[in-house]
Amino acid sequence: MDYQRILDEITREAAALSGVGRVASYIPELAKAPPDRFGMALITLDGQVFTTGDASERFSIQSISKVFLLTLAIRQIGEQLFERVGREPSGNPFNSLVQLEYERGIPRNPFINAGALVVTDVLLAQFSNARQEVLEFARHLSACPDLEYDAAVAGSEQASGFTNAALANYLKSHGNLRHRVETVLEVYFHACSLAMSCVELARAFLFLANHGVLPAMGERLLTVSQTKRLNAILLTCGFYDEAGEFAFRVGLPGKSGVGGGIAAVMPGRWAATVWSPEINCYGNSVRGMKALELLTTLTGESIF
Ligand code: GLN
Repeated sequence: MDYQRILDEITREAAALSGVGRVASYIPELAKAPPDRFGMALITLDGQVFTTGDASERFSIQSISKVFLLTLAIRQIGEQLFERVGREPSGNPFNSLVQLEYERGIPRNPFINAGALVVTDVLLAQFSNARQEVLEFARHLSACPDLEYDAAVAGSEQASGFTNAALANYLKSHGNLRHRVETVLEVYFHACSLAMSCVELARAFLFLANHGVLPAMGERLLTVSQTKRLNAILLTCGFYDEAGEFAFRVGLPGKSGVGGGIAAVMPGRWAATVWSPEINCYGNSVRGMKALELLTTLTGESIF
């Protein structure tokens, strides 16, 4: 498969959608992202790296970090996690409050904000320094010891994250947060602020394409069954109320973030990531979704 030629073609075609979406501005610091950027990386299980555009520039991975949080939590407490968070698509925006109210403080899934806050609370009970643990885990997965949280982004979200604070307080009122609201939010905001490039992120997602084993080191992170389940949640919940659209157009497990990044995996073959900061009303990158749709169409590779 000539992945390089395909990535080059995708870059040309996706350019037509430049200017269609809007850079996220509800977190003021994210509004500074350069709207015209477009990068893509595909890494195969045998270590071949293909890139196009701004694939080496770091960006705010935002909700893609929820995959690292969930992986860590499953490693620590396994299925027990699902006593406190569901695994059904929410069909609602990522920061929805209403659903949490009528479902009495049990978030639908770990990828909406409420669910990720519960997962963060689990990590706080498991690790003496959860914030550092998440960072070290991302560094390990991507083989990049110099990954850092972006303090400006984390601070900006802290200062403007009233909806997340409402979600956390509501979880707490239902007894589904054990730690202090401020402590949970602080770890969650930092995880969202993690800055990574497409290449680094693709490498970090490879274990999900490899039945739970980091290909470079042969290290098992999740069991085969846990990996299957995590990929299932990515497929059904990774794009909030646009998960059906992503499955329909792309056909891969994946996760988006409001920084404009998307990471997706083709089990048994590769992980691919794309970054383009202009997002749609669901919080998903416009050019990113198009690029991955073209990738599965032009390669003929998808899980379906
Ligand atoms: N940090 C963002 C928030 O909590 C993440 C949202 C996202 O990427 N969808 O609102």
